[in-house]
Amino acid sequence: MNRKINVTIYNENYHEQTMPEVREIYPEGIHHAVAAALPEQQTGVVRFATLDDHESSLSQEALDDTDVLIWWGHAKHEAVSDAVVERCAQRVLHGMGLIVLHSGHASKLMRRLLGTETHLLRWREAGERARLWTVLPGHPIAQGLPETFVVPRDETYGEPFGIPQPDELVFLTWFQGGEVFRSGCTWQRGAGKIFYLQNGHETYPVYWQPEIRRILSNAVLWACPPERQVTPDRGPGNVPPLEPAD
Ligand code: ZN
Repeated sequence: MNRKINVTIYNENYHEQTMPEVREIYPEGIHHAVAAALPEQQTGVVRFATLDDHESSLSQEALDDTDVLIWWGHAKHEAVSDAVVERCAQRVLHGMGLIVLHSGHASKLMRRLLGTETHLLRWREAGERARLWTVLPGHPIAQGLPETFVVPRDETYGEPFGIPQPDELVFLTWFQGGEVFRSGCTWQRGAGKIFYLQNGHETYPVYWQPEIRRILSNAVLWACPPERQVTPDRGPGNVPPLEPAD
């Protein structure tokens, strides 16, 4: 791709303000750690959005100029404005890429786009070892990743995970306590590509780990649409035939 990729990173930025141990790992917030993982050569404008400013930082103008939106949310999903969620969803349906991280599985935006209200899963905060397996090695998001690698400590998520069947399962994770989890999944909705990555509980330095950073970088390249604004040639509605009927 010749043009630069514009990325907007939403982080609710709540735990960083309320938990010193999180601030110690991410002094500038999770959004800045994620930004440092973006593909350096290909990245254009990087915008940040937090819960406090999301009405303006996720404006229509900002979204229209965004190729890939990254979403980290956990404790404050319900505080995100419905209007913002809807304009983000519409941009995904019209081509903007979306990367949803960790507990963003329960965000209004992921629920809106993937059609599930609950996104049930099992979880445990036990600082367990997570072993990721690259189960689709030919996929662009798996480029440069080993067959398997360990995240020393992360929150445990376990199946069943109440998502629609992924279009592609790129990573599968085994946790020390016995659970397995579909940790790297893709979907396409409308013209937009969506990637979900399980890793990244706020109290562990997961987004500083090289393998996870490689996944984030790959995912941005994969999710970026060929053109920033994708307009359907023929929208819905009653339309005349291209050729008259015999
Ligand atoms: Zn978590």
